[in-house]
Amino acid sequence: MSDSCIFCKIVSNEAKATIVYRDEQVTAFRDLHPVAPTHILIVPNRHIDSVGALDAEDEQLIGHIFTVARKLAEEEGISNGGYRLITNTGSQAGQSVFHLHVHLIGGQRMKYPMG
Ligand code: 5GP
Ligand code: ZN
Repeated sequence: MSDSCIFCKIVSNEAKATIVYRDEQVTAFRDLHPVAPTHILIVPNRHIDSVGALDAEDEQLIGHIFTVARKLAEEEGISNGGYRLITNTGSQAGQSVFHLHVHLIGGQRMKYPMG
């Protein structure tokens, strides 16, 4: 838990968010500024700065995040249309919250790359 981290606060219910999924390992909630009809952030409950701070022990956790993403995409009804999973790593990539997260984005046709 990082005291100044907004996503840690969402995980611990100190800050409000529209939570769509939660288990022992991860929390998923709707992005405050959605860029598409579905825009959900999936975060590990434990604070990890970014992909740059991962080690081999986190491999199961990262796989779990992708499985949760697949389930949420099904629940959101965007599986057939397709969706995008994005993890910005570092400031040049546009990471603005330094608590690792995967964006689940879908519900509209997307161009590549974004931004
Ligand atoms: P990044 O730019 O780090 O890849 O993505 C951070 C995302 O977190 C942005 O899409 C931003 O809209 C979202 N975000 C930032 N602060 C909050 C917040 O307090 N609540 C929620 N739900 N989303 C947030
Ligand atoms: Zn955090």
